[in-house]
Amino acid sequence: MSMFTEDDLIPISALQHFAFCERQWGLIHLEGLWAENRLTVEGKQLHERADSDETQVRGDVRIARGQRIRSLVHGLVGRADIVEFHKDTSPSAVEQNGIELNGLEGRWNPIPIEYKRGRVKFKPIDEIQLCAQALCLEEMLETAIDEGFLFYGKTRRRHPVTFSPTLRQLTTDCIENIRHATILGKTPSASYQKECDNCSLYDLCMPKAIEQSQSVREYLNKSVRDLPSPDDGMIS
Ligand code: SF4
Repeated sequence: MSMFTEDDLIPISALQHFAFCERQWGLIHLEGLWAENRLTVEGKQLHERADSDETQVRGDVRIARGQRIRSLVHGLVGRADIVEFHKDTSPSAVEQNGIELNGLEGRWNPIPIEYKRGRVKFKPIDEIQLCAQALCLEEMLETAIDEGFLFYGKTRRRHPVTFSPTLRQLTTDCIENIRHATILGKTPSASYQKECDNCSLYDLCMPKAIEQSQSVREYLNKSVRDLPSPDDGMIS
C-alpha cells in the first residue's frame, strides 16, 4: 500500500472548503486568502473549548479534546474537536483486549464529534469532514469506526453520522479531487449560488461580478470565433 509523506498531507479543513465551494477552496488553499464574517467568528468561539487539549473522564467515557490526527494512507492531517472513547465491556471486547488508552487496558471505542455553529446542511459538507477524521482515527488506532456525531450550535443537538460506504467514497473522492485541483494550481471560476450570501470570502471573490465578466469574455470570444475568416473571402 502506498503511503503519503508528511509533506503531502492535506488539511482536513480543506475538504470542508472544497465540498462547500471549489472556488472557496482555491482562494484559501491556493491563493492564501482568508476573511472573517459573523458566522466564522461564531464558529471559532464554538471551537475554542473543543480545541483546548483537555481530557476528561466521565465514568466509562474518556473525552479527548483537540486531538491531533493524521492518515498517511489517505494523506490527511488535522484536529478532531472531540473524540469520545467509550469503554466496551462486552465479553468479546475484554477477551480481545482491544485498544489500550493511556495505559488503561480494555477496549475503547472511539467516536469523533465535530462542533458546528449552524444547523444540518443540504450538502454533506460536515459529514465529509467528520468521515475524514474517522479515517485518520481508524488508521491511528487500528480499529473500525461506524459512527460519529455533528453537534450543531443552533439546535444544540447531536446529529448522528454513519460512516457508510457511500460517505467513505464521497470523502475519498473529495481528497482525490483536491489533489488533482492542487496539481492544476488554478482557482476554479466563480458561479453565484445561494451559499455565497453566507461566505466570508464574498467580497474577495465577487461571484456576481466575476460571473458577469466571464459571460462578457465568453461573448467576446464567441463573437471573435464567429467572425468570417480571411479564407472566406469576405475580409480583405
Ligand atoms: S462567494 Fe460564492 S463562489 Fe465565491 S468563494 Fe464564496 S461560495 Fe464560492
